[in-house]
Amino acid sequence: MSDSNENTEIGFSGGTIGYEAHGNLYLNITNKCSANCYFCVRESSDGVYGYNLRLSREPDYDEIIRELEETDLSKYNEVVFTGLGEPTCRLEVVLAITRWLHERGVRVRLDTNGHAQLMYPETDVVSELKKAGLDAVSVSLNAESEEKYEEICKPSLKGAYGSMLQFTKEAIEAGLDTRMSVVGMPEIDIDKCEKIARDLGAGFRVR
Ligand code: SF4
Repeated sequence: MSDSNENTEIGFSGGTIGYEAHGNLYLNITNKCSANCYFCVRESSDGVYGYNLRLSREPDYDEIIRELEETDLSKYNEVVFTGLGEPTCRLEVVLAITRWLHERGVRVRLDTNGHAQLMYPETDVVSELKKAGLDAVSVSLNAESEEKYEEICKPSLKGAYGSMLQFTKEAIEAGLDTRMSVVGMPEIDIDKCEKIARDLGAGFRVR
């Protein structure tokens, strides 16, 4: 772990796996994704908030835990799986790290594209996340219709839009603190997106 200016980042031999912002600790465990959104930071930059989040290899469970053990987690509002990629591409690691954090009383959030049930059809993903101790989820809604979603997010899996909405519904039913988000862009109908989120019972945020 090293301090750069007032920011803190957690590194391992493959790059930066944790970074501090907004009073939270964000975890960057993969650069993979099941979508290819044209607005994705991966297309235009190497990271966010001045942190380089390109990984030359993915950290394994032990490497993440080793770094978290050396971090004062009590100073953060929450630890958030996010980063330059889709965390649930590594669902097993997300579950294991969530368990570890939950056992230590740390609030845990997952920022996700909501495709995990399609990626792991044999697993009841939301219920596993809940069992692991996940507190909150932020799902990228990104578009008010499947047609627009396909156009701007280019998901690699069929039925991604419907699956993402279902994931959100299940997260709410499971009692997770759930919100949906969109990127504020002219081609997105923000009002319609907000209605979709509110009708499901989720919070809503334009990012
Ligand atoms: S879902 Fe997120 S990480 Fe994946 S391509 Fe879209 S913006 Fe990037």
